[in-house]
Amino acid sequence: MSARESSALPAVVEFRNVTKTFNPGTPREFIALRDVSFRVDDTPGIGEFIAIVGPSGCGKSTILNLIQGFSDVYPPTSGEVLVRDRVVEGPGRDRGMIFQKYTSFPHLTVRQNVTFGLELNRAELGLSPSARDDLAMEWLGKVGLRGHEAKYPHQLSGGQQQRVAIARTLVLSPKIILMDEPFSALDEPTRIEMQRLIMGIWQAVETTVFIVTHSLAEAVYLGDRVWIMTPAPGRLGKQIIDSIPRTRGEDPLVMQEGRAFKDAVAEVAQVFRDLEKAGRG
Ligand code: ADP
Repeated sequence: MSARESSALPAVVEFRNVTKTFNPGTPREFIALRDVSFRVDDTPGIGEFIAIVGPSGCGKSTILNLIQGFSDVYPPTSGEVLVRDRVVEGPGRDRGMIFQKYTSFPHLTVRQNVTFGLELNRAELGLSPSARDDLAMEWLGKVGLRGHEAKYPHQLSGGQQQRVAIARTLVLSPKIILMDEPFSALDEPTRIEMQRLIMGIWQAVETTVFIVTHSLAEAVYLGDRVWIMTPAPGRLGKQIIDSIPRTRGEDPLVMQEGRAFKDAVAEVAQVFRDLEKAGRG
């Protein structure tokens, strides 16, 4: 699928004919992705949101894991995964992952969880301990956790724990953020709250974001474009971009009441069903 017109800058992420087969040559051989190609260009000053939806097991997480360079999944069986024109060879600070399950360290306070990555990368970042602390507090403020910094993760609600995960990731200023069903474990009001938070802070970070979600409304709200995958072996079945309403800075609840929004969700649902049917047939 051609993403959008190529720019002079290297693509933020590019897949070239990527196939991923798990357990090849064994009875458990499974082709998770087949011949996936895409290019996401740099959009300086914006930070693009790509929402990926598709039936369970169609390789959505595998795409994120390949971008991340996660050792259980990387490398692809064939094809190439590039981040800014470089073949991905493992995880790096330029990419941050936010999972559905809370990934904070239970034995560290909220503040220590956020400074953890800064300390790990202190040589590279060149920040003094007080600068690291200031930066952590700044991010705790942005995600609405001021006053909770001395607590431990188990003393927080699910939504607050996910705010810690977001702060921990964003404090490192990654250029690419990979979110794998980040809000699926949350109840609906908390999910909406998190969408509101994300929309509010995203303008500031100018990061390319890939979000896997099973909520089509969430995909349309957060995504600048929505990719709908085919059933396994996963391929990018269709990209919807033109009919996705502009949601930047708009409130999720207000937005979701609008005609254009509902039409876009209906369109994504229809394509989803069509691809599923074609996959079965
Ligand atoms: P999705 O995110 O779309 O639900 P995944 O990308 O997680 O799908 O997985 C696609 C398929 O690949 C699934 O059938 C899954 O069981 C399999 N798979 C994913 N990761 C691994 C792995 N590390 N080893 C073996 N099989 C895997």
